[in-house]
Amino acid sequence: MESGQRYLQVAAELSRVCEQADRDPHEVKLVAVSKTVGIESVASAIDAGAADFGENRPDQLIQKSDAFPQANWHFIGNIQSRRIRDIVGRATLVHSLFEERHALKINEAASGMGIVQDVLVEVNVSGEQSKGGLAPDGVRGMLDACSGLANLRVRGLMTMAPIGAGDVARQTFSGLARLRDELQRDYPDLTELSMGMTDDWRIAVEEGATIIRVGRAIFQ
Ligand SMILES: *Cc1c(COP(=O)(O)O)cnc(C)c1O
Repeated sequence: MESGQRYLQVAAELSRVCEQADRDPHEVKLVAVSKTVGIESVASAIDAGAADFGENRPDQLIQKSDAFPQANWHFIGNIQSRRIRDIVGRATLVHSLFEERHALKINEAASGMGIVQDVLVEVNVSGEQSKGGLAPDGVRGMLDACSGLANLRVRGLMTMAPIGAGDVARQTFSGLARLRDELQRDYPDLTELSMGMTDDWRIAVEEGATIIRVGRAIFQ
């Protein structure tokens, strides 16, 4: 089966899961994570209607966004200072900001390009040592710091659930949703919840995800 067909299957299932969860399917964006595949598979997904893709390496982001400028490219990988200029402007949305020094550099690069860069703050809800992201009680400080940056706009929060048990994933996602709701009182721009991957996106949708990031189910 081609990537395009699998994309259509996931998109159809997303509609069903939304309906069952009493949610409007238009509220949940499907980001096809193409980090493991080449241009041909991306083309197949685009032909099937995919409009949003996720990459975790700047080189791949550059290559694929140049090949398909009509698509939205999401940066979901580890941010490195020296590659920020390659990410800003190319990425529709940067999902993985959690260091203040990177916020300053993104703001500076965006200012130089005359744009406002949309970002999400990555949160380590589960507290796993191996994971990036801010502890939940550190997010408000980050938002305060970013509120002074004119060329950076924080649109929401992102998290990854621990691999394995579904009930832990659910706790992780509901925890992120609760945090967003709390912070949204002071930060009305904080509307997005990027959560859910191939194994747990259905749970994430039930818990309020507005963006899901699906790789393997589309690009095996
Ligand atoms: C790879 C990746 C995904 C997609 O994971 P799958 O399990 O392949 O769906 C989602 N988010 C991030 C941050 C990733 O690195």
